[in-house]
Amino acid sequence: MKTLCVYCGSNAGARPNYLHTARQLGHLLVERQIGLVYGGASVGMMGAIANAVLSAGGHVTGVIPADLVDKEIAHKNLPDLRVVGSMHERKQLMADLSDGFIALPGGLGTFEEFFEVVTWGQLGFHTKPCGLLNVCGYYDKLLDFLDSAVQERLVRPEHRAIILQSPDAAELLEQMAAYQPPTVEKWLDRRTA
Ligand code: AMP
Repeated sequence: MKTLCVYCGSNAGARPNYLHTARQLGHLLVERQIGLVYGGASVGMMGAIANAVLSAGGHVTGVIPADLVDKEIAHKNLPDLRVVGSMHERKQLMADLSDGFIALPGGLGTFEEFFEVVTWGQLGFHTKPCGLLNVCGYYDKLLDFLDSAVQERLVRPEHRAIILQSPDAAELLEQMAAYQPPTVEKWLDRRTA
């Protein structure tokens, strides 16, 4: 992996560990010479990971829609800030620029961005790894829900397996490096179609 897209909260969240892990992931990316692609903001966990990468001498690409430059307080010190026309362009460019995707704890925007890229993987539009960095068990209930969706036969086990997970950033990066995309071609359940 040469570049990794990180989705994360535009807020800092309730636990110091969220910001701490965002910075830790930033340092790991620099150690492994992986460039960061993210949403271009200076706020919350987004700002924390970008600053960690920049201060350790790494490469950061920010991608932000013009409408959000003021709202999310676009990062002022990014050598590579791409201002795009819409949210859709932002997500497409972030995906195109990245070799893999990680979601740190975040809110609705983070969920939306992560699940979009997972569903693109399900459809075979890309074969890049997608992982949840499950800091302090933040995503435990979501992971349980995904397992119940498999039991209900609405998500295939092979597609559930697209979503890698770990509470530890280094371990998640290792899983991502070893990722094998699913080979299931048809995602419709023919038994009930
Ligand atoms: P949040 O997780 O809600 O704090 O938001 C994290 C990032 O997701 C922010 O940069 C938001 O602008 C972005 N975001 C929010 N809604 C969407 C959406 N529908 N599509 C893409 N990005 C979004």
